Amino acid sequence: MRSPAVRQARRAEIRHRLAAGAGAADRCLVIGCPHPPTAATGKGLNRRYCRRHEEHFARHGSYIKASYSASVTAPARRAAFDWLTANEASPDVKRFLSAILRVYQSAGRATPTFRLAGQSPSVRARAVWARLREAGVDPRLPAAAWLGVASVTRADPMPERSVEYRGVQVAKIIHRMASGSHRRWVSQQPSGAIQVTEMHKYSASRGEILRRIGAEIERCAETLSSAALGRATDEVLGGLYPSRSRRPHPRSAGRRRSCVDRG
Ligand SMILES: [Zn+2]
Repeated sequence: MRSPAVRQARRAEIRHRLAAGAGAADRCLVIGCPHPPTAATGKGLNRRYCRRHEEHFARHGSYIKASYSASVTAPARRAAFDWLTANEASPDVKRFLSAILRVYQSAGRATPTFRLAGQSPSVRARAVWARLREAGVDPRLPAAAWLGVASVTRADPMPERSVEYRGVQVAKIIHRMASGSHRRWVSQQPSGAIQVTEMHKYSASRGEILRRIGAEIERCAETLSSAALGRATDEVLGGLYPSRSRRPHPRSAGRRRSCVDRG
């Protein structure tokens, strides 16, 4: 939690930057976009992009390119999962999976999403990793998400090659794996009727939290040698591990597998 003094200084800085919005461009930098940057309208701080494209960037990691759809990533993730499984004994894969287990282990408490309101993106990102650990999500799943997206990017005729875009794409998948917090309770009405109340809370899949998760999985993936990465994407794309299923991984790998104490 930020201290009141830090919050006050931050508010003053934002007021100052809003007042300085005069230096903004007339139009959003995305070609063909007719809207002014948010700073030019006095409703934001962005001197280069309009609200819509700013939001697009927060959600997708690119001002223009949309996220890969699940129908594109799922078969690649499955092929990547099968590649990782077939090569589990190789030093590269061992290093990659151990790095992910270390992120799980150092993520601290799996704070429920309910209690994360107002917390910093880094705290919320760590809670996502901690929830994966608590749910027993096999480390091959985040690894396969990274390798699947890296393969899809390599095969894309018009790729967005920034590490940020790739990190966000992988982080969206990982964020979804952690799947929020859920509560359910039963109470009795004065009339005697039984009422069931459910509360579901998902943290928003946008912004800085995705960058934090993305940076973490990128660091883990750096343990792959470039030779191993080349081989892996060749084999994922080359159909050596053809996906016979639309599921990104076998059902058994998703939850409650004793993966955490394997490393
Ligand atoms: Zn725009």
